[in-house]
Amino acid sequence: MNLIKKLVSMLSGNKPERQKSGRRPPKSSKARGSGSLVNSNVKKRGKSASQKCSSRPKARKTKNVPPAPPYEELKEKLPEFSKLGLGAEELASVLDMGYIEPTPIQKKSIPRILEGKDAIGTAQTGTGKTAAFSLPIVKMLGKGENLPRVLVLSPTRELASQTAKAFKSFSKYRDLNVLLIQGGVSMDAQVRALKSGVDIVVATPGRLLDHIRQRTVSLRSVKWLVLDEVDRMFDMGFIEDVSNIISRCPKDRQTLFFSATMPDAVMRLSKWALKEDAERLDIGLACSPADTVEHFVYPVDGIQKYDLLLALLEKIGTRSAIVFTRTKIDADRVSEWLVAHGFCVTTMHSDRSQREREKALEDFKKGKASLLVATDIASRGLDISGVAYVVNFNVPEHPEDYVHRIGRTGRANREGKAMTLFSSDESTALGRIESLIGSQIERRKLEGFPYRTEPVILAEPKKKRRRRNM
Ligand code: AMP
Repeated sequence: MNLIKKLVSMLSGNKPERQKSGRRPPKSSKARGSGSLVNSNVKKRGKSASQKCSSRPKARKTKNVPPAPPYEELKEKLPEFSKLGLGAEELASVLDMGYIEPTPIQKKSIPRILEGKDAIGTAQTGTGKTAAFSLPIVKMLGKGENLPRVLVLSPTRELASQTAKAFKSFSKYRDLNVLLIQGGVSMDAQVRALKSGVDIVVATPGRLLDHIRQRTVSLRSVKWLVLDEVDRMFDMGFIEDVSNIISRCPKDRQTLFFSATMPDAVMRLSKWALKEDAERLDIGLACSPADTVEHFVYPVDGIQKYDLLLALLEKIGTRSAIVFTRTKIDADRVSEWLVAHGFCVTTMHSDRSQREREKALEDFKKGKASLLVATDIASRGLDISGVAYVVNFNVPEHPEDYVHRIGRTGRANREGKAMTLFSSDESTALGRIESLIGSQIERRKLEGFPYRTEPVILAEPKKKRRRRNM
């Protein structure tokens, strides 16, 4: 049973228990007793760690921030953005980022978030979602204080780091401190920063819980809680940690909930975490690849995948490509194989240290390596521009991951190509992807490649087609 299914069945094990606030906790596993998963954790420790937190920082230093240009001047340069209710400081940062017009999710979300309402949003990758939630939050935050007032939870260190960077850019003209709390690096610097006063914390769940347990962070002043890529957090088994963290934030807060897909378990968590009048901000579920990506399936005997990969990459030449594998072992093996054949490769998977992961990404972004071999850790959210090709060494197990993987190319309206190496034992996984995207992916054959058995180019007609636009 995959992890999502396990979690879904775990979460539907018990009767839900209503909190006094009207927020409903997710249903917990029977093994943990009849109380809610969240409450049982809190009860064990008596008062929540945030209540006991002894790390109240002393008065903090004022930061020197550049003055924003006059509002009228910005309004002229950014007429569409200025209609959304943002202040001069935010518009100035938007101008610095080189944005001209808001993306659809920004148009829809920014005014509603500024109204103070909880929101639940689905958006395809690369839609400008980060600015959609960070710009209005920065506007509402006002003057810097000591304890964190914004908490953003992200599933991976890379996404957290990207989001923290975005918050820093959007708060350039305000006296606000942003802190990235992620694992894989020493806690000391994070503790020092927390003590000197932080407004916005962007964190991965595990390391944030370490700080909560050690009472080096207090969430009692959190007024804005953003849960990003929630379905991914479920996939990665973070649900208990995330529920635990949510339960430690004040109930009187604005919660923004983003997920590429909305399976039942994610919906259940959203019902608990968000107020009943939460706004839906759907900008298209991640069930279709961007129009700018051409994608093909290359059928091949499993034993010839390494050779076909080489042949395809040789055809691509030196242009940048990401090669996705299903497992960490495959990622290492494929990297070794490519290095042995003269390719310049960096590798990213969760068994590599944070430093190694950052360096791999940096080398790839700077063009020091033309190939990035990665597991799905790199398939979501990462904003790497100029990726011309995505090659799936294996068909991904979860169909949504296919859309995310191929979404690494064809970003910002550039054209991209995605190629999936497919062996007959992966038929079920490929079928699930085609059901999700509602169409059959074109089969291709690489001319001149010495196939052991002639590939089947025409897929069998589907018995059952998904009904669309219901
Ligand atoms: P995100 O979906 O937040 O990861 O954003 C994807 C990419 O789009 C990032 O490189 C952003 O800097 C960029 N972006 C976000 N909003 C805009 C905009 N309004 N105009 C142009 N680029 C944008």
